[in-house]
Amino acid sequence: MIEMNNVTKVYNNGAMAIDNISLKVHPGEFVFLIGPSGSGKSTMIKILMREEKVTNGDVFVNGRDVSSMFRSEIPYLRRSMGVVFQDFRLLEKKTLYDNVAFAMEIIGAYKREIKKRVPVVLKMVGLGDKKDCYPGQLSGGEQQRAALARAIVNKPQLLIADEPTGNLDPETSSHIMTLLEEINAGGTTILVATHDINMVNKMEKRVIELSCGRIVRDDMRGHYRNEA
Ligand code: ADP
Repeated sequence: MIEMNNVTKVYNNGAMAIDNISLKVHPGEFVFLIGPSGSGKSTMIKILMREEKVTNGDVFVNGRDVSSMFRSEIPYLRRSMGVVFQDFRLLEKKTLYDNVAFAMEIIGAYKREIKKRVPVVLKMVGLGDKKDCYPGQLSGGEQQRAALARAIVNKPQLLIADEPTGNLDPETSSHIMTLLEEINAGGTTILVATHDINMVNKMEKRVIELSCGRIVRDDMRGHYRNEA
């Protein structure tokens, strides 16, 4: 669940990245966040995970008041969400198995639980046979799926993906999207920031479009429009 009420974010250099945004994303929804480069998509994601603090307004994520939470509460917020970053952020010196297991270790999961869950998730993303590989030995699409596995291993209520199909070929992109749909079907709320026109048009999900930090469109079964 996401709720933003009159949220504004002005960076220290004066850039108004988010300009009075209000929106609600209900549990179980699948939402695309689109808009040109510089329109505020990444800032919005950073606000939701409290990497950036809002200048004004209220933000609630999974029932937590993100805008006014103490620093000590941030880890609890992050446990309720999985994030797939554009640059994957996989640990290069750990195997694929250990990358995913590590996400469970840091939230204090039992060893037995980790042993059971990691192979299940790796299989789900089609990387069961690559568990002993290091990130450097994986293709871009495989690294994307590995990042996805790590993001969902703790069964988050909310999954956020920033450009999950950027730089991937159409077939691999399609596979990633099918995976996201499967994860969504399991009840996880999904927010995907993307430039991928084909993907947005094919999926017919809710589309929220940003321009200069404002919401200029919010369609329940949206398409990517390129109007002048
Ligand atoms: P998008 O993800 O849609 O490309 P961003 O959220 O990265 O958009 O950027 C929105 C605006 O905020 C842009 O004008 C950008 O230059 C500015 N911006 C983003 N991050 C910072 C930052 N750390 N410091 C200052 N300005 C920033």
